[in-house]
Amino acid sequence: MAKVALVSGANKGIGFACVRALCKQLKDDNAVYLTARNPELGKKAVADLEKEGLKPRFHQLDITDQRSVEALRDHVKKEHGGLDIVINNAGFAFRLDDKASAAEQAAVSCQVNYFGTARVFDVLSPILRPHSEYASYSKKFYCRVVNVSSMTAKGVLKRLDPELKKEFQNTSTRNEVDMLVKRYIELMASGEAEKYGFTTVSNCGFSKLGLCALTRVQNSDMQKDLNRPGINVYSVCPGYVATDMSSYKGPKTPDEGADTLIWLALQPQGTTMGSGEFFADRKVISLL
Ligand code: NDP
Repeated sequence: MAKVALVSGANKGIGFACVRALCKQLKDDNAVYLTARNPELGKKAVADLEKEGLKPRFHQLDITDQRSVEALRDHVKKEHGGLDIVINNAGFAFRLDDKASAAEQAAVSCQVNYFGTARVFDVLSPILRPHSEYASYSKKFYCRVVNVSSMTAKGVLKRLDPELKKEFQNTSTRNEVDMLVKRYIELMASGEAEKYGFTTVSNCGFSKLGLCALTRVQNSDMQKDLNRPGINVYSVCPGYVATDMSSYKGPKTPDEGADTLIWLALQPQGTTMGSGEFFADRKVISLL
């Protein structure tokens, strides 16, 4: 059975590099979807990869738009029956000199990076397949979801009030993580975030911390689905990568930034290594 993979926010940067790597590693009888919120930019990115001899497919995806995510799910289900790899790469960070208020920055960062990524999982997880046999190889690939987070999550966790830090580390349900993120947004809006133990240092970092906690919960929920064994969910920091988001600073190229994401997405059959954990440079990073 052909494998179906998709990458969000793939018109540029690390997402684009992920599509390139998946196209190279999965070959043409599989379907690799380059998705982007702007169809024009997405189709241009597909054309750029075609010039490299690769054959990604395109579908529109805005992770903040429920209908857009559902349209993608319906398309994939109709065309392929299911989905094997999701790299939730789409993300947003305000520039350091952005004039938006701290409250607005906190809300927008969480809406895109946390709730947007959560929405993609909510809508697409029912069509994730437990595994598929890839004809050209003797081994089986299992289904993988990779949430692109950031090392700033660890820095933010360190700065939380100890009680709040414990609360984060002990979250075991989706609702508990959602409530923590909502509390942060509300306290940022009322100017009381620090008073209640949150840090105002990095709104993007906070949204990514939420994403790491969410990943753990998503993974644990998938492990409980006995009809679909072996579906692993990971969070990962790509490193400091020269992309639009970093104003082209950072020592890694997008291809290098994609390395751990692809390594996790293609983990072979039966691996339970680091399932639910946060990774960087192919290693588990402790969030304790
Ligand atoms: P880029 O800014 O180059 O790319 C971000 C991508 O996300 C773009 O395609 C953008 O689309 C897309 N995007 C933003 N909002 C949405 C949305 N609502 N729906 C769908 N797509 C959306 O950044 P990077 O390639 O650097 O970042 C990729 C991921 O890596 C992000 O999650 C980021 O947080 C993470 N990361 C990056 C680091 C770095 O050093 N670069 C460090 C740590 C983490 P559009 O072009 O339309 O805006």
